[in-house]
Amino acid sequence: MQRTRELEPDYFHKVVDCQWACPAHTPVPEYIRLIAEGRYSEAYMINWKSNVFPGILGRTCDRPCEPACRRGRVEEEPVAICRLKRVAADHKDDVTGLMPPPAARPNGKRIALVGCGPASLTVARDLAPLGYQLTIFDKDTKSAGMIRSQIPRFRLPEEVIDEEVGYIHALGGVEMRFGTPIDSLKALVAQDYDAIFVGSGAPRGRDLDLPGRQEAAANIHIGIDWLSSVSFGHIDKIGRRVIVLGGGNTAMDCCRTSRRLGGEEVKVIVRSGFEEMKASPWEKEDAMHEDIPILNFRVPKAFTHEDGKLTGVLFEIVKAEFDDRGRRRLVPAGEPDEHHACDDVLVAVGQENAFPWIETDIGLAFDEWHMPQVDPATFQSTIPNVFFGGDAAFGPKNIIWAVSQGHDAAVSIHKFCQGEDIAVRPPPGATLVSQKMGIHEWSYDNDVSNDLRYRVPQREKAEALKSVRVEVELGFDLSQALAEAQRCLNCDVQTVFADKLCIECDACVDICPMDCITFTEDAPDTEDGEGDLRERLKAPATNLTQDLYVSGKLPTGRVMAKDEDVCLHCGLCAERCPTGAWDMQKFYLEMTHAGGQRG
Ligand SMILES: Cc1cc2nc3c(=O)[nH]c(=O)nc-3n(C[C@H](O)[C@H](O)[C@H](O)COP(=O)(O)OP(=O)(O)OC[C@H]3O[C@@H](n4cnc5c(N)ncnc54)[C@H](O)[C@@H]3O)c2cc1C
Ligand code: SF4
Ligand code: SF4
Repeated sequence: MQRTRELEPDYFHKVVDCQWACPAHTPVPEYIRLIAEGRYSEAYMINWKSNVFPGILGRTCDRPCEPACRRGRVEEEPVAICRLKRVAADHKDDVTGLMPPPAARPNGKRIALVGCGPASLTVARDLAPLGYQLTIFDKDTKSAGMIRSQIPRFRLPEEVIDEEVGYIHALGGVEMRFGTPIDSLKALVAQDYDAIFVGSGAPRGRDLDLPGRQEAAANIHIGIDWLSSVSFGHIDKIGRRVIVLGGGNTAMDCCRTSRRLGGEEVKVIVRSGFEEMKASPWEKEDAMHEDIPILNFRVPKAFTHEDGKLTGVLFEIVKAEFDDRGRRRLVPAGEPDEHHACDDVLVAVGQENAFPWIETDIGLAFDEWHMPQVDPATFQSTIPNVFFGGDAAFGPKNIIWAVSQGHDAAVSIHKFCQGEDIAVRPPPGATLVSQKMGIHEWSYDNDVSNDLRYRVPQREKAEALKSVRVEVELGFDLSQALAEAQRCLNCDVQTVFADKLCIECDACVDICPMDCITFTEDAPDTEDGEGDLRERLKAPATNLTQDLYVSGKLPTGRVMAKDEDVCLHCGLCAERCPTGAWDMQKFYLEMTHAGGQRG
């Protein structure tokens, strides 16, 4: 079969599981090592260049990197990648001097941005240093979109938001106009901006049109509208008995906020089973820790009311049934309906896009789901100088996706304004450098030991529930941070094999603690290129998402095949190899953002 082309950027990038899974491709192991060395400001700046909001994301990220983390494959739980980011943010020095300087002069191009959420702010972060004049319009009275309006202060303090939006403002050339809704794209287009970025999010909360909805309206609230009223100080109390309908993260924020605003008996009631709920496991855990029961398999049938006042919600009890193709259906369980009395209901059953301010006759095409037609690589709409990103482009997701799409849209806007082909995307920058410092000495800590994930300390429950503004998580202290950082397996320090140096002594095979390496007959060329190689390895390579690293034909006619799946990056193979055929080399990959900026 073909020798692995490990120098193609995607090959080793994929081995760094967390960085590959992160939508912004943050160089995770690099910042974790810097944290272990106490170099917090540098760790912060690596994050800042890549994900723009390390302090915010270190508290709130949806963490797609963690399920991918190699530590989770060799032990039970992944490295606490997200909460380590917060350590860098909390313990850094003043980083203002490390930020890009304002552009020497304006480049003469004007960009309008609709919405001041993370997507637009990322576009502004990337274009400001290039001399663009950026005007951000937002209907809210403050910056940061749903980061501020939806995420409750007990998860994310306001100072962290202000600090990180402040870094973007300080880049120069960024004007933020609050309390300024854009009510016509046509009128905005007519203002002759060189380009427009739409980062207006998915602002509409779904309602439940059930009997009693109108009669009891005064005590039935749409979750996301209610949360933003709490955030902006318009609501500061709720009834004693609260029912939250829905099973996503919005429901979790609604119920936990209710507990802090006078809700003593707060319940989350959800249609699906507990396991299928959309909320992240840690959000459910936090809610239950605050004495909020989650009742599942209950479908709301009606709001009950008396004298124009809500009295409760009636539920049908259902159960899950699976058809031949494994598809799940909810069917009546045959039990009597259940009534739950309450004073207020929060409806958190989903979020939608809404573009009432985009006219239908201006050439901007929408698809059958009323979403704008947006190119998934360039984020360009059917009006060439109008780009979309974040929740406005492909529906509600999360902050890190909004950031990643903001970076991509900024690349397109810059190329568009410079008259370049926006379809040609800049490749990432990648380097590969040997970490050898002596025969048994590497420039990274390669001592792998078992160690369970450290828990982030939390404020005492009674204290935490006293106010919506008291942050619950206290963050790792520095000794916990060091211990957690040492759980990282340095997946970016790659095992690099030089065919020509190998004498086929099998010493690496004997020393490898995970049985990753096998010398075996080459596989015949088949369509997938691997034939039966995976089964013939010393430890069969069953995880098909992970590649096999295969050498060219060695002098005996065999090949070296290494399963990347559970390699600990311990370097024992490279230490044992008498000829240096194995080397441990650090692979450092950064994405290329607008104008060649890296991060
Ligand atoms: C309750 C809740 C909790 C969440 N928690 C998390 C979390 O913990 N972690 C996470 O990663 N994600 C979370 N999310 C999702 C996350 O907040 C969003 O995915 C993200 O903010 C989307 O960013 P964006 O820039 O696309 O849009 P948004 O953040 O929605 O910002 C859009 C901005 O556009 C403005 N706007 C809209 N229309 C107009 C107009 N016509 N004119 C002017 N301004 C306009 C809005 O006022 C808003 O400020 C949560 C969402 C909700 C609802
Ligand atoms: S062990 Fe470290 S480098 Fe490897 S995936 Fe986990 S966090 Fe990333
Ligand atoms: S670095 Fe080498 S010895 Fe260590 S687990 Fe990976 S292949 Fe085996």
